[in-house]
Amino acid sequence: MLDGVAIAAEIKAEVLVEVQELKALGIVPGLAVVLVGEVPASAIYVRSKVKTCGELGIYSEMLTPPETVTTEEMLATIAELNGREDIDGILVQLPLPKHVDTKRLLEAVSPEKDVDGFHPVNAGRLQTGQAGLAPCTPAGIMEILRRSDLEIAGKSTVVVGRSDIVGKPAAIMLLNASATVTVCHSKTVDLPRYTRDADILVAAIGRAGFVTRAMVKPGAVLIDVGINRVTDAAEVERFFPGDEARAAGFAKRGSTVVGDIDPAAFAVAGAFTPVPGGVGALTIAMLMQNTITAARLRRGLDVSSQARPALAR
Ligand code: NAP
Repeated sequence: MLDGVAIAAEIKAEVLVEVQELKALGIVPGLAVVLVGEVPASAIYVRSKVKTCGELGIYSEMLTPPETVTTEEMLATIAELNGREDIDGILVQLPLPKHVDTKRLLEAVSPEKDVDGFHPVNAGRLQTGQAGLAPCTPAGIMEILRRSDLEIAGKSTVVVGRSDIVGKPAAIMLLNASATVTVCHSKTVDLPRYTRDADILVAAIGRAGFVTRAMVKPGAVLIDVGINRVTDAAEVERFFPGDEARAAGFAKRGSTVVGDIDPAAFAVAGAFTPVPGGVGALTIAMLMQNTITAARLRRGLDVSSQARPALAR
């Protein structure tokens, strides 16, 4: 089992050292988080991001425009943040209300401060292998693989899912690391034919337990990105038969979180990321790392791992 929580703690410890190094140069890295309206899940994520900033010595600021905010007002807020010297990273928490033009807003964030790595300029930099800001969740996948000493180069790798925030950038990162990559999606014909061939299988689909044991190659590395809330007791028993801790958690909260891979498949895997405690644990750590990278890039400081001894590669 690949322990995402432990790997995230390792990265956060490195970020802490990097923050101290920047502070010695008179630089306090800063992150602005924009949370629109009252979406309970988004509020939890944002609070957790702000709290982690505090723990690592990163200045953070939370902006909370009301649900009724217009695209124009949001664009003005982003323009102001783009111009601020004390802000290195800008994060617009998604999803936004339907009347707000998400694409326009994400493109309005200066690519230099785009710590989510969603701006087309950063997507282009990733594609062409240039230094930039990469999306946090796929970057977390790469950290898990590298820090667990799992070989990537030459491995037959299948990514199921092609979203702009997970599947597609994950496939590019794996390709940049010399994996042989196949990307599957909802129109793929005979999906198991591809997944069964994968030495590394990344599932970023959004459907609880969709990848079954029969769909994976014994010994494969299974990376489960999915976060699916299951509220049906029979489903919980089907995914976690005899798991008393799960059943107790479910009885208390009325739901449990299941990934895109059926946990039964983990029994035949060479390695796997659990849900929770796998990929999901890395996302905030990578956001913190991106904030430091943004602070360095903006000041013309080297961002290679050689120039950042705190990054234990
Ligand atoms: P998304 O935008 O909904 O994309 C889902 C992808 O899965 C699409 O490319 C879709 O194909 C594909 N798909 C859907 N049904 C399929 C099927 N039956 N067979 C093959 N492919 C299928 O979702 P996302 O944002 O990438 O997120 C994916 C999962 O990761 C979700 O559970 C989400 O909660 C989780 N997630 C976790 C983190 C984290 O760990 N921090 C971050 C982001 C997302 P089409 O393109 O053809 O529609």
